[in-house]
Amino acid sequence: MHFTLLRRSLSNLKGPGKNYNILVVGGGIAGPALAFFLHRYGMKPVVVERAPELRLSGQWVDLQAEGKEVAWRMGIESKVREKITEEQGTHIVDSAGRPQASFDVNSFGERGFVEELEIRRPELSNILYEQIRNDVEYVFGDSPQAIDDRGDKLQVKFANGNLREFDLVVGADGIHSKIRRLVFGDESLISYADLYAAYFDIPRTDSDGSWVRFYSAPGGRSVALRPYSQNRTQVYLCFRSKERGYENLDVDMQKRLIQKLFADVGFEAPRILRELPNLDDFYFDSVGQVKTDRWSKGRVTLVGDAGYCPSPLTGMGASVALVGAYILAGELSRHQDYNEAFKQYETWMRPYVTKAQKIIPGSVRLALPNTRTAIILRNAILGFVFRPAITRFITKLITSKAPQKSVLPNYEAVSTP
Ligand SMILES: Cc1cc2nc3c(=O)[nH]c(=O)nc-3n(C[C@H](O)[C@H](O)[C@H](O)COP(=O)(O)OP(=O)(O)OC[C@H]3O[C@@H](n4cnc5c(N)ncnc54)[C@H](O)[C@@H]3O)c2cc1C
Repeated sequence: MHFTLLRRSLSNLKGPGKNYNILVVGGGIAGPALAFFLHRYGMKPVVVERAPELRLSGQWVDLQAEGKEVAWRMGIESKVREKITEEQGTHIVDSAGRPQASFDVNSFGERGFVEELEIRRPELSNILYEQIRNDVEYVFGDSPQAIDDRGDKLQVKFANGNLREFDLVVGADGIHSKIRRLVFGDESLISYADLYAAYFDIPRTDSDGSWVRFYSAPGGRSVALRPYSQNRTQVYLCFRSKERGYENLDVDMQKRLIQKLFADVGFEAPRILRELPNLDDFYFDSVGQVKTDRWSKGRVTLVGDAGYCPSPLTGMGASVALVGAYILAGELSRHQDYNEAFKQYETWMRPYVTKAQKIIPGSVRLALPNTRTAIILRNAILGFVFRPAITRFITKLITSKAPQKSVLPNYEAVSTP
């Protein structure tokens, strides 16, 4: 069967679950993916996004194993594949930009550290939005202010003053989720990595080439430049700090903070800092993980970063968001009782999230050493490890010969068209 016909025949697969009308809060990655599957299973999602339009910012995100499979089940894998990175590898450089250690994309087997489906976040977000924009109500520039549980319905008060009723509410509103705060209390659920990251892109110059260049400066600071397009280069600036709350500063103050913290840094930092004041597209956040004992309370549940952000340190954020959306929608389609659906969602997701949130101890210190000596030592070790003979040996050790088999439940098989 032609692919689009197959996809059409899969839309609106109605399972035994009820025709819930569901408010999905957040139009990032998890939100539109959830709305896609809810619509496919015959439910009525409404997506509300606080930003006035789709937030097309951010850098590369990975789609790994199950994340790729959800993309395939949505029918978007080929669109994602059109947009994957074509960079050649990564140079760890010194302050003059000279490579100290290098690994190309094939150093550790097929595509090496560059995941097979590594896509720019704005493009993934846009692909997901395009999948549902004609089928699902999307509200931009608004946000829930209060949720009143009336027993058989939730009454949601929006910032624009509207009152609407929903059967269920899902918080897909990112690491600093307001829905999580409304339902479970304050932000104590975030376990911070004492690390901040800023992502943005700047005009490309000849020095940028087709390799990622990563530089560590003393004081736990790093500068990375990554090929993005013919005329833009992406920048990642990271710094370690135990101070809390920089993510709550306004953008101008965040930029001033970066200017101050990176003023004495070499490599390409002076060029980056010159561009900083002119940038509209600037993303800054604290790096942390969301850890909660449960993701649901009454008729409200959480999906993606809102419930279980694994942090960019794991490279699992987008995969976990897609898988969470797929499982939650699938369980709601499978069960008459939303409590049972939420329970099964959590039962399936909990071990997956626990695994996804594993961070190699010391990885932040390895990526952002504090002292010049530690940086030189780290670069020397990486220079040795990334020699071709060593990477071939490591690849042999870590590559599994077992065929990959799907672990995701197949909800379409249990749905009755
Ligand atoms: C602009 C942006 C850029 C990012 N860039 C990167 C990156 O470069 N690399 C990386 O690894 N990760 C990045 N992330 C995080 C990454 O997208 C997530 O870790 C992951 O994909 C999970 O997605 P999510 O949908 O759960 O959360 P998010 O992608 O964070 O999406 C949450 C959405 O909810 C919206 N929202 C927040 N609060 C409310 C509210 N009260 N009401 C309504 N809507 C609300 C936000 O505007 C956002 O669109 C970025 C996130 C954002 C928002």
